[in-house]
Amino acid sequence: MDLENRTYDIRYVANYLRKSRAESMEDLEKHRMVLTELCIKNSFKFVEYMEVGTSDSIDMRPEITKLLKEIEDGVYDAVCVVEYDRLGRGDLGEQDRLKKAFQKSETLIITPDKIYDLNNDIDDTYADLKGFFARQEYKMITKRLRQGKIIGARRGQWTNGIPPFPYVYQRYRDKYNEKGLVVNDERMPIYREMIEKALSGIPSQKVAQSLNQRGVFTPKGNYWSAITVQRLLLDETHLGRIISNKTRGSGHKNKRPNAKNYEAIPKSEWTVVENCHEAVKTKEEHDRIVAILSSRKRIPTKSRKQSHVLTGLVKCAKCGHAHTIHLVDCKAFVRPCAYIDPLGNKCRNKGILSDTLEEIILKEISKYQSEIINSSETVDCQQSDNIRAEISEFENLLQKYKKALETVNDAYELGDYNREEWQTRKRKWQKLVGQTEDEIYEMKKIYQSNQNISDEERKQNLINFLGNIRTMTDNVQRNDLYRTVIESIVYLREGNTIDVKINFK
Ligand SMILES: [Zn+2]
Repeated sequence: MDLENRTYDIRYVANYLRKSRAESMEDLEKHRMVLTELCIKNSFKFVEYMEVGTSDSIDMRPEITKLLKEIEDGVYDAVCVVEYDRLGRGDLGEQDRLKKAFQKSETLIITPDKIYDLNNDIDDTYADLKGFFARQEYKMITKRLRQGKIIGARRGQWTNGIPPFPYVYQRYRDKYNEKGLVVNDERMPIYREMIEKALSGIPSQKVAQSLNQRGVFTPKGNYWSAITVQRLLLDETHLGRIISNKTRGSGHKNKRPNAKNYEAIPKSEWTVVENCHEAVKTKEEHDRIVAILSSRKRIPTKSRKQSHVLTGLVKCAKCGHAHTIHLVDCKAFVRPCAYIDPLGNKCRNKGILSDTLEEIILKEISKYQSEIINSSETVDCQQSDNIRAEISEFENLLQKYKKALETVNDAYELGDYNREEWQTRKRKWQKLVGQTEDEIYEMKKIYQSNQNISDEERKQNLINFLGNIRTMTDNVQRNDLYRTVIESIVYLREGNTIDVKINFK
């Protein structure tokens, strides 16, 4: 059946699936395809409700109970079923309850060959359909206005922020999807490459590296990472769906004091609206990727446990990433740096026995303590002075860069440059301004933190540290003690040359 959508203006429907006693799960799958096709043909966005049981009684059918509530709230324009009686053949009381819900909310019932309007006495005669259409159109407009206020996100509108690659919001060239997503055709081949590679078993990290090596970056111009690629591969948006209702509460940093924390809602309660936009992978592809990725578990879960003396303190001098600690035969090792850059190059900083590194660190700390005690305040003052001098130097630079930027703009207005030349020059100065601003910001942070902890406190912490560190046996307590005096340990090993720099608090 081809429904005259423009006359009807049916946009959001629920597909209700239930098998009769004589039917199998296979039949149910067929019904599902029939209804899905009906929705795609008529551009309905749809939510599926599938009943596993066959009971006629509403109370024995959890999905219809949920659906009934939504119908009463006026969520849907229509409910699609393969046959009218799928909704229920229960007792008269239940029949009445269903009928009232459809009538009050002006929700239609659609089967593959007919539309039922329970508010219309003559709905079962095709002859009068013309008059029906006109009335229907008016009713739908008023219903739409009401719906807009109640529902919003679950209506299949995109409200989840930046659309996932390769989608863009609402418009691409001549494609348009009101408040929805459309595919950016130029990004599409890159996305499909990710899918094909994942399907052939290539790990996400390799997929990302291959793109980066060819200079194919994210829309924001960043390197692809394994996590970004993996997230895209698993994203169900690409099946044409919009999923909402995944969490409740607020995860906002500056949330109101009485706001609830984020809380995950079980998958069975998510609102999944189908057919909202063009799908870019099939359900089969998606399921296979889920299976491949979950069997591999590429991305390790971060161990948050602070189980060893140096846990969380050792940073690689080459790349800035943290070194992890592992235990072999009761001996702790600082692992070699595990970082692999976006192009696939491994960082080559070697590992070391934790005890060896700790001896070096303790020597450095003793040295630092005697410096601090001997020169009383000069160390800190000097450091602060140095930073202050550096900040003002950078601020001078910043002024110069800003002036240069102005000059470039003026020159363009005066017609000294063509547009392209102007943009190249402009970008160069803008970049320098941005970088310098970042650097000033970072230095100010250091300066601030230097001011935050007084010299007296610092000395006390050091005395406390050196007095206890060698006698304490509990690793967690020792780790805590290290953290009272140290921000981080920057570590480098080349051959047997070990270089350690300590960032003190
Ligand atoms: Zn490294």
